[in-house]
Amino acid sequence: LVSSRTWAGLHVIHIAAEMAPVAKVGGLGDVVSGLSKALQKKGHLVEIVLPKYDCMQYDRIGDLKVLDVVVQSYFDGQLFSNKVWVGTVEGLPVYFIEPLHPAKLFWRGQFYGEHDDFKRFSFFSRAALQLLLQAGKKPDIIHCHDWQTAFVAPLYWDIFAPKGLNSARICFTCHNFEYQGTSPASELSSCGLDVHQLNRPDRMQDNVARDRINPVKGAVVFSNIVTTVSPTYAQEVRTAEGGRGLHVTLNSHSKKFVGILNGIDTDSWNPSTDTFLRYQYTADDLRGKAENKDAIRKQLKLSSADATRPLVGCITRLVPQKGVHLIRHAIYRTMELGGQFVLLGSSPVPHIQREFEGIANHFENSPHVRLILKYDESLSHSIFAASDMFIIPSIFEPCGLTQMIAMRYGSVPIVRKTGGLNDSVFDIDDDTIPIQFQNGFTFLNPDEQGVNNALERAFNHYTKNTESWQQLVQRNMKIDFSWDSSAAQYEELYEKSVARARAAASRS
Ligand code: ADP
Repeated sequence: LVSSRTWAGLHVIHIAAEMAPVAKVGGLGDVVSGLSKALQKKGHLVEIVLPKYDCMQYDRIGDLKVLDVVVQSYFDGQLFSNKVWVGTVEGLPVYFIEPLHPAKLFWRGQFYGEHDDFKRFSFFSRAALQLLLQAGKKPDIIHCHDWQTAFVAPLYWDIFAPKGLNSARICFTCHNFEYQGTSPASELSSCGLDVHQLNRPDRMQDNVARDRINPVKGAVVFSNIVTTVSPTYAQEVRTAEGGRGLHVTLNSHSKKFVGILNGIDTDSWNPSTDTFLRYQYTADDLRGKAENKDAIRKQLKLSSADATRPLVGCITRLVPQKGVHLIRHAIYRTMELGGQFVLLGSSPVPHIQREFEGIANHFENSPHVRLILKYDESLSHSIFAASDMFIIPSIFEPCGLTQMIAMRYGSVPIVRKTGGLNDSVFDIDDDTIPIQFQNGFTFLNPDEQGVNNALERAFNHYTKNTESWQQLVQRNMKIDFSWDSSAAQYEELYEKSVARARAAASRS
């Protein structure tokens, strides 16, 4: 291990449970790699620390090798050895921590969903900081994400800063306040944190269950910068309905709390170079888009009789957050309106999976509806490319990526006005929005009338104003959804925080 540098830019270290494409469950994985790549491009030194899961995509890690050191980290009253591996993911340096712990913490065949997740990730958070301390790293920013690495914030100030790992400001990003990782208070002591000190209403005590501690609350309290993944969601979580119990905490720390819309990886989501597509295309030549539509209809055995019949796509995890009952309704309404519907999705919730299997069977031989109930990266690209419209009727949506991907592939989004959808999709029929920003169809109430209204307006526009629809598609494909502007906002937050710390240090 070598200590870090003399570097003109900032030194940022992400400590995270996911990073695309090696260890991805959802949007968090995309953010860690997308933001890191963009910051690296701006000249900053960015490193990432991840657990070494058995189920990672090892073929996407370059030059993976084990380092010649062992990191000893504290847990449950004793020291455990950790092997440290280093490799390159998407051009970024990544450290992988492999705990030599009898519980085989990251040797479980899945990333999350284990009975001892709290233990696994509090162990990892502590081991990651121990690695930085032992390596003599002097980062400007340590950026942790979601409840799994929220422990980093209190651990840093209570345990590691006094030991000399004290150069950094802490940034915490919450990607979804639904998941807070609460646990009986006593479990916090395993990673060395002082339960007595922390299980208090102004620190880590859960706002609802007083006998539990809440890692996300802890990170909000103990970080210098707190972000979430869109401005509208940042507003929503400060209300009693949206905050999942944390609105009071977020309001009392509102000065350091901000919402920044995620970007998308515009290298891998690019219809003009996408190798998953049979026909590549651009905004200025949409013939390939029509050919992809024809190809997917054949592939999925849908009717190709009428080339202009609109195709509605939907690609999602089938969980209540995504408005599954409204997705089901949209399938039937699309049929009635004379369109075609393709759903790609899978559900971790057994009764939802069963319900959609029933619908899939019902439409098995339909010429106009197909449900594919699995996770399929390649098919997802083909559906974005083939569809004319893309529906996202979420109940809540911290940021959402599919509306941005859809627009980049020329599929017009139909979305509920919530969270990041509200910050990226602007209604064609809303006169208060300048015409150059109008890009889709939105509805406010999460009910069937809301879906009907937006779908009907989209179908009308598609069939009656062919030329203006095509202009809309072309305009949407040219919108900049890259990480550049979001990364610039993170950069500014980091720089301001570092400057404040330096100013405070020079005063004392
Ligand atoms: P969330 O993180 O809540 O699942 P996002 O919209 O932020 O929702 O990100 C979802 C990502 O996962 C998108 O890139 C989408 O294309 C992808 N995805 C979701 N379901 C599937 C599926 N069944 N097959 C392939 N990709 C999927």
